[in-house]
Amino acid sequence: MSLALRNGRTDTGAPISLTLRGETIANLDPSPDLPGLDLGCRLLLPGLIDAHVHLDKTLLGHAWVPHQGGADVRARVATEKRLRAGLDWDIGHQGDILLQRMLHAGTTALRTHVDIDDQSKLKNLHAVLELRQRWSGRLKIQIVAFPQSGILHCPGMPGLLEAALSEGADLIGGLDPVGFDGDMDAHLAIVFGLAETFGKPVDIHLHDGGATGLRELHAIADRTRALGMQGKVMVSHAFALGDAEGNEFTRIAENLAEAGISIMTSIPGDRRFPPIAALAEAGVNLCLGSDNIRDAWSPMAVISMFERAMLAAYRSGCRDDAQLRKCLNLSIENGARALGLPPRRLTPGAPSDLIAINAPNLAAAVMDRPEPDLVIYKGQIVLNRIAP
Ligand SMILES: [Zn+2]
Repeated sequence: MSLALRNGRTDTGAPISLTLRGETIANLDPSPDLPGLDLGCRLLLPGLIDAHVHLDKTLLGHAWVPHQGGADVRARVATEKRLRAGLDWDIGHQGDILLQRMLHAGTTALRTHVDIDDQSKLKNLHAVLELRQRWSGRLKIQIVAFPQSGILHCPGMPGLLEAALSEGADLIGGLDPVGFDGDMDAHLAIVFGLAETFGKPVDIHLHDGGATGLRELHAIADRTRALGMQGKVMVSHAFALGDAEGNEFTRIAENLAEAGISIMTSIPGDRRFPPIAALAEAGVNLCLGSDNIRDAWSPMAVISMFERAMLAAYRSGCRDDAQLRKCLNLSIENGARALGLPPRRLTPGAPSDLIAINAPNLAAAVMDRPEPDLVIYKGQIVLNRIAP
């Protein structure tokens, strides 16, 4: 099935028309006989990528739950477990609402972490696998088996993680090997051991900052290289990169670049985060994720990756067009590299996951954060607000 898109505009303002066939862009010169859409001079760009979300945590669609939080990661994990046990929590319904809003914001691929622990066991995974099935025609979902309660001291782990990987999780996760589990080597040995056994990529939550976080980042990079897993490992948050300066930063950035490790940041508002320009200069792939959306960890609901790019620009002091474009590219080119997806471009052979927006260029889109008028996934229209 082919679809023609006519009368769009690229970031430079040049006119563009193209033919989509199945999962790819077939050519840039659609035949007049093909069924198609007039984009009305809208800006055409690849669908956006949210590299880190928690579909099983969101409380969107639930009655308002006042934030309770906790002093540190361990206290917040306990709060979330208490809430999960006491609330009428429906991952399918709440996840549907979040996915609907993501799609309406132009996200066509995402990576979700799913809690695997002694309380929920594989229940959350099963619910998210169902969500993925239901949404399979509308956006791409990667699933990380995430040990939110740690691995070493949580009963039943790592057997539960093994079961999760057998039952459909795409990646193995980890959590603060030192700060949460208290034994860096033992924690990483299990995570990378499961990655090797199952042939799966790795995505580790690393909140540990300062010297501890840097030591963990070096250890993750070393294990990645030793296993030949370059390009298959992501570290989420990596706040230690925001704390590091001078030679310390140069050394860790070089190690991460050589190991092909991607870094994900949600652009937190209350602390230093991995520096966008310095990491790009060092050749480290940085991408953006929304992380917590209206859940036990945060009441915020910043869902659009245009909004996330704006936050990146705002907190990094980016103002000129080239810088703003780079902030959005964190959720396009960099996001694709981080998730191991084909490069996203408006050229033949690239994925036919596209959006059309009312904006003159990408820089303006970061400032104005428009809702897309058109979302296409695998060559199929999944959202269309363009008047016939
Ligand atoms: Zn997270």
